[in-house]
Amino acid sequence: MKQNLEEGVDIFSLQDQDRFEESSHDFVPKSFDDYLGQKELKDKLSLYTQAAKMRKEPLDHMLLSGPPGLGKTTLSQIMAQVMGVGIKICSGPMMERTGDLVAILSSLEPRDILFIDEIHRMPTQVEEVLYTAMEQFRIDVIIGQGAGAKSINLPLAPFTLIGATTKSGMISAPLHSRFGINERLDFYTDEELCEIVMQSADFLELAIDTDSALLIASSARGTPRIAKKMLRRVRDFAQVKNHNKATLELTKQALAFLGINEDGLTKMDLLLLKKIVELFNGGPVGLETLASLFGEDKDTIEAVYEPFLMRKGYLEKTARGRQIPHKRLPYLKQKFLGQMVI
Ligand code: ADP
Repeated sequence: MKQNLEEGVDIFSLQDQDRFEESSHDFVPKSFDDYLGQKELKDKLSLYTQAAKMRKEPLDHMLLSGPPGLGKTTLSQIMAQVMGVGIKICSGPMMERTGDLVAILSSLEPRDILFIDEIHRMPTQVEEVLYTAMEQFRIDVIIGQGAGAKSINLPLAPFTLIGATTKSGMISAPLHSRFGINERLDFYTDEELCEIVMQSADFLELAIDTDSALLIASSARGTPRIAKKMLRRVRDFAQVKNHNKATLELTKQALAFLGINEDGLTKMDLLLLKKIVELFNGGPVGLETLASLFGEDKDTIEAVYEPFLMRKGYLEKTARGRQIPHKRLPYLKQKFLGQMVI
């Protein structure tokens, strides 16, 4: 099981190598026009950004929530670009001590953006430093130890905190209430992802037809990061096998090579469905039970697997748990159990 988990999870993961590939070998949207999809959100953020720029004030503190890879960091970089200010990017779990956060906060220039990814994973004592920093642009720093310790009040440049989270429900109430703007990013439609794939292909100088781009888009779980990662692998195939031209046949081959079937399902998706078919005759089965059988935590099942399986019509949520829709069950029974069901 562990072996399978590690094999299948690659397409969702973000290793340092991926970040490097994303930023140095792929198209990175630098303006709201380049950033495709999320139209409503983009319109709002573009307006807030322009207004703050006209007033020469920092943007309001902002919480961006939504699954990984949907473009929260990219949007924040675009906002900094439009405002003409600097942006510092760090992540909640990286800040182990209050000193780590104090060092970053005191290095900010007026109106700079501090982007904290996975802000829900910041240790509580570090988070508490943010309260006065966000509200009053100052922090209290303790210098020295024991009886000689002194508290110094340190003023900060007025800045904007953008917190990104995959789990907005895990943000503490005091932190949550300090964000003036609270927005959520949704999964992209296949058409939006197709445009993103075409945009990247153009940058990578890869010839790709619409059908191939749509196949990548419909396999990419509503997520630009996954679409772009798949495209880079399709490009490897095209470069070696077809003079840098991605045809539908070649795209299918490349996706199969990545362990993605014609419906966009990975080995892990299939394994999850197999458990529901084999052990629960298609369900319903509770999320907790499913998570423990699958060897994953339930947040990962909810954030990574379920949305895509539901979108593809392979899973539905009922009051009694998760189940495979009736119309899909015969096909899956045949596939996993070799049962002919009439
Ligand atoms: P998040 O911060 O939500 O995890 P990122 O901003 O790091 O996501 O985006 C992941 C990748 O997807 C980056 O390579 C980024 O350039 C690309 N991307 C995200 N959203 C878009 C978009 N709307 N249009 C084009 N590329 C996008």
